[in-house]
Amino acid sequence: MSDIPALELIDIHKHFGKAEVLKGVSLTARKGDVISMIGSSGSGKSTFLRCVNMLEIPTAGEVKVHGEPIAMKIGRGKERVPADMRQVERIRSRLSMVFQSFNLWSHMTILDNIIEAPIRVLKLTKAEAIERAEALLHKVGIYQRKDYYPSHLSGGQQQRAAIARALAMDPEVMLFDEPTSALDPELVGEVLKVMRGLAEEGRTMLIVTHEMAFAKDVCNHVMFLHQGTIEEQGAPDELFNYPKSERLKQFLASSY
Ligand code: ADP
Ligand code: MG
Repeated sequence: MSDIPALELIDIHKHFGKAEVLKGVSLTARKGDVISMIGSSGSGKSTFLRCVNMLEIPTAGEVKVHGEPIAMKIGRGKERVPADMRQVERIRSRLSMVFQSFNLWSHMTILDNIIEAPIRVLKLTKAEAIERAEALLHKVGIYQRKDYYPSHLSGGQQQRAAIARALAMDPEVMLFDEPTSALDPELVGEVLKVMRGLAEEGRTMLIVTHEMAFAKDVCNHVMFLHQGTIEEQGAPDELFNYPKSERLKQFLASSY
């Protein structure tokens, strides 16, 4: 039972028109794994992350969430599409995603942002959802801001609210796409601190990041993408201290 990976992507390919931006990328995340994806802009990191929950439909390859393959079929235009959108919705609810741009609903308070999906998707009562949300707001350190609207919070606070919102679904895997890239430098630390805490609690996470020190410290596996392929991957100590590929060496030299 526990041998079943939380998440498995097998030989994922993605074309946009004629351009093949993912050329066969695979990943296995076991419970408690914290995996970072690094690589230059345009290497395919976001596309790969979006393939996990079918925000992008892989042209080829398989996605399995806790052993369950997302069923695909050939659509009317002969393109590959999910066979059952209800399955995709159900799986999405187990894979919370945190974006660079926070994506909080601007017309809702922080608390309302967090309780919405647990009530709508998980069918919690409002009282249960509020209890859960308040505990998470304490955890990420913004309980005092719960009745504010997003625009009245700093970027770091908004991103911590977005993390609380993701956590409220008690996801199997958390997906992060450059969660600190839109933040002023002085606000990056508070978000990384929350993420580090989640890693220490054993949350399974897949993180696209440019924060090399964080990847080195917190992750147990690092994947370096280059032009749609995994150029090199391994344990962070190995990968950062003894990079083998020239491209990774160059990338690391330009990242510090
Ligand atoms: P990264 O996140 O590593 O910067 P992306 O996954 O965003 O890279 O992009 C990989 C490549 O795919 C880039 O060349 C980008 O221009 C292209 N791309 C991404 N999304 C689309 C799209 N919706 N349509 C066409 N090309 C896209
Ligand atoms: Mg990206």
